Amino acid sequence: MPAIDDLLENNRAFAARFDHGHLDVRPSLHLAVVACMDSRLDVFAALGLKDGQAHVLRNAGGVITDDVIRSLAISQRRLGTKEVVLIHHTDCGLQLITDDGFRAELQEATGMAPSFAIESFTDVDENVRQSIARVRHSPFLLHRDRVSGFVYDVDTGVLREVEP
Ligand code: ZN
Repeated sequence: MPAIDDLLENNRAFAARFDHGHLDVRPSLHLAVVACMDSRLDVFAALGLKDGQAHVLRNAGGVITDDVIRSLAISQRRLGTKEVVLIHHTDCGLQLITDDGFRAELQEATGMAPSFAIESFTDVDENVRQSIARVRHSPFLLHRDRVSGFVYDVDTGVLREVEP
């Protein structure tokens, strides 16, 4: 049975107890968070964030791709965010693949070589530093001084900062 039926039921209960009206489209903490899509990381709960406070951008690995830069450029230039927090985590699915292996798998299965980078990694701290560097060096962003990066431990919920 697909998950959507339960999700819609959950939403009816959620909407019934929805307790704030319209919020400003601009995040009140002037904050953007970029995180991995991992299902064990609840960004709002882990950081104590509430609706309206931050942009949360997610993809496999929390990688600073061109598309994340696109979103951050809009976030900073139109919606007033000035700080970027990056969250990677232990036991990431991207540590289970290699760029070459996954690329070959996609090409063999489809006959098409993907145009995107796979962005697998082995050292999570180094991966966070890579993401920090990409934000700091993007010419499209207005605010590149307040960028911090963390590793979230999926077994304890603890966030550990990575020095750039
Ligand atoms: Zn991950």
